[in-house]
Amino acid sequence: MSFSDYLKQFDFLKFVPLIENSTAADVEKIVEKRSIDIYDFAVLLSNSAERFLPALAAKARSYTIRRFGKTMSFYAPLYLSNECDNLCVYCGYHNARRIERVTLSLEQVRSEVQKIKEIGFDSILLLTGESPKKADVNYIKDCVKIAKEYFTYVALEVYPMSSENYQTLSEAGASGLTVYQETYDKEVYKKMHLKGAKSDYQYRLDTPERAFIGGLRKVGIGALLGLSDWRYEALHLALHIDYLRKKYWRQEVSLSFPRINPVTSSFKIPNPVTDKEMIHLISVMRIYLDDVPFFISTRERADFRDKLVELAVTHISAGSKTTPGGYAIKTEAQGQFDVSDKRELKEMISIIRTKGYDPVIKDWDVNFMGVFGDYNG
Ligand code: SF4
Repeated sequence: MSFSDYLKQFDFLKFVPLIENSTAADVEKIVEKRSIDIYDFAVLLSNSAERFLPALAAKARSYTIRRFGKTMSFYAPLYLSNECDNLCVYCGYHNARRIERVTLSLEQVRSEVQKIKEIGFDSILLLTGESPKKADVNYIKDCVKIAKEYFTYVALEVYPMSSENYQTLSEAGASGLTVYQETYDKEVYKKMHLKGAKSDYQYRLDTPERAFIGGLRKVGIGALLGLSDWRYEALHLALHIDYLRKKYWRQEVSLSFPRINPVTSSFKIPNPVTDKEMIHLISVMRIYLDDVPFFISTRERADFRDKLVELAVTHISAGSKTTPGGYAIKTEAQGQFDVSDKRELKEMISIIRTKGYDPVIKDWDVNFMGVFGDYNG
């Protein structure tokens, strides 16, 4: 059964009144519950739940500490290439924009990786735009191998591939993949992705599954917040995670909360998500998914990230550069989005410690790989 088949088991008409018409009394009953189902989750997404935000946030915080302790894991993104064949209207890298395009040579990748290691990271996320010709699987594989010489944990955020290609990358040393559906709303998806392989909604939707089949150990999903109604994105994300966790129970699913931070001023965000709504979303997600790692990037402002750290986030980036070669080589290439929180790793670690959290630099899970057998099949 695919995720699309799984979704068919649910009558979406049942969710609409729960999200749109639930009353404060409906919400109050659910706030008291110890664990919630997907219908309760829909009620907690309603407007009426907003007045319970302090209670929801307190619950989310206590669930996070109970499951993860007071810890915060750090990672660094490294953009390998800003070449892209797609036209996603919200993105600074899209194909119709005349910007300097760069794909790092393997030598440059090594310099970048060495620099990031020197800064103090042990987890790295390798990113590309979506141009399989300019950054093919063999190139990505070689980059993974270089990164693996320095880092315990190597993850990818690259164009969707076949499970065979994911297997190649997994064998080269990659452990994780991040792939955002961007929006689960098919109509909005069509309007936002005008050209290139990414216009294929279904192929993207099935990507997390192909990554797991290919042997990657961790897959992170997310919706680009601001494209469509965040409440319906949240519902689909929760169902997607439920599906993946039931089927690939030996692997790990995580969730990111990317909020649009466009480079192009001409793009008008269709459904802006406020800070308050972000806190609502993340709190309710944590109450429903109490053991799923949550990621937040430097798209968010420093003061807001500090709040989220104490709410439910478990993994953050720091000192991120969104240009290929941004750490050591300093190319003139443009970034994918503007980094809001510019604080470096050292500063972030000291802030985390002040809040009573332990920074986690090394991913110890990698040491257990193989102990529990092959993830494939
Ligand atoms: S969002 Fe990704 S696929 Fe779309 S234009 Fe930007 S880099 Fe390319």
